[in-house]
Amino acid sequence: MKTIRKITILGSTGSIGDSTLDVIARHPERFEAFALTANNNVEKMLAQCQRFQPRFAVLLNPESAAQLAHAVRENGLETEVLSGIESLERVASLPEIDAVMAAIVGAAGIRPTFAAAKTGKLVLLANKETLVMAGRIFMDLVKAYNATLLPIDSEHNAIYQSLPQHFNGNLAGEGVSRILLTASGGPFRCASLESLSDVTPAQACAHPNWSMGQKISVDSATMMNKGLEVIEAHWLFNAPPDKIQVVIHPQSVIHSMVAYVDGSVIAQLGNPDMRTPIAHAMGFPERIDSGVSALDMFKVARLDFEAPDFEKFPCLRLAYQALTVGGNMPAVLNAANEVAVESFLAGKMRFTAIPAMIEHVMQTIPPQEIATLDDVLSTDALARSKACDWLVAQQ
Ligand code: NAD
Ligand code: MG
Repeated sequence: MKTIRKITILGSTGSIGDSTLDVIARHPERFEAFALTANNNVEKMLAQCQRFQPRFAVLLNPESAAQLAHAVRENGLETEVLSGIESLERVASLPEIDAVMAAIVGAAGIRPTFAAAKTGKLVLLANKETLVMAGRIFMDLVKAYNATLLPIDSEHNAIYQSLPQHFNGNLAGEGVSRILLTASGGPFRCASLESLSDVTPAQACAHPNWSMGQKISVDSATMMNKGLEVIEAHWLFNAPPDKIQVVIHPQSVIHSMVAYVDGSVIAQLGNPDMRTPIAHAMGFPERIDSGVSALDMFKVARLDFEAPDFEKFPCLRLAYQALTVGGNMPAVLNAANEVAVESFLAGKMRFTAIPAMIEHVMQTIPPQEIATLDDVLSTDALARSKACDWLVAQQ
């Protein structure tokens, strides 16, 4: 595999973006942040431009981009500022870059991530929603354009590290019996089912082990995050749903495991810090310093495991269901979930309405095959409008 030098970071102002820039800053002789992108955070993007001096900075929002362009000039920087979805696609496919960190949150990440795959880039995939919405189409694209995919999601990165290096999608051929996908259980692992209807956004975003963006934090609280990760693992490792088992592991020290037919279980362990999977993928196949402190086994002291509670966390059941139905259903699940999470964060509905909204939308839209990115995007739009209709009908 070609070593990475110039990299585009999609979503540089987010939690994964911050961690990626932290790894880059530790290896200035090795990596160069060539293009940085974000939605509309002018102040943070300006600070990143001052520190990393990228060739391009893109803000999706045109007014924010105009403000940034002005500030960049005032500060005497040479960064070229662009805006709009086409510019996101452009900086994800520039001939100069070696890799793209796909770390935009949600469905908004799909078009630039597709652009990176279509130009045969090394794609460091944090944006799991791309695989949930369009798994088959995306994996076919990666193959057709000779792109390379390395998983950033900590569980999938752990599975990748626990499989043989030559793994080519044949789990049975490698003697793999199961993938054990670990989950912390989120902030409400011990809460009663009854107490969940009064949960506030601040409580839902207070993850016990990981510090992350708001959307994925709520997804962790509903356990939809694990559901999305089951679908992600299905596509990345060609694993049938019944071979992917979710294991609750509250300490988040084991980031996932692979069980083999001889009884061996291979796991990847570490402190819960995304700079480990990011540094693993950026340095691959070399190991490079990530800034993460060494795991102190004596401090960890014990590792616990529990079975997931599908009744308390219906989102996990809905995700397995969407994967089993296939076709458009995972994209329906994802879109309804994004509307549900936004509505919950905006105080428009209760935490327990999140799975109710998603289930309703999944029942309203008939299963259908999808073949192109346009099919995916129209499914996404349809599911969003059904979710909004449901919310209005509830009020
Ligand atoms: P975040 O909310 O902290 O950051 C999101 C980034 O995307 C920001 O830079 C934001 O400006 C940008 N963005 C948002 N909407 C956009 C739009 N419409 N167009 C262009 N850019 C947009 O999110 P995060 O926690 O860093 O997560 C990013 C992705 O990585 C998600 O898909 C998440 O599931 C995945 N992931 C995150 C973690 C984590 O620890 N944070 C772990 C595993 C996977
Ligand atoms: Mg994860």
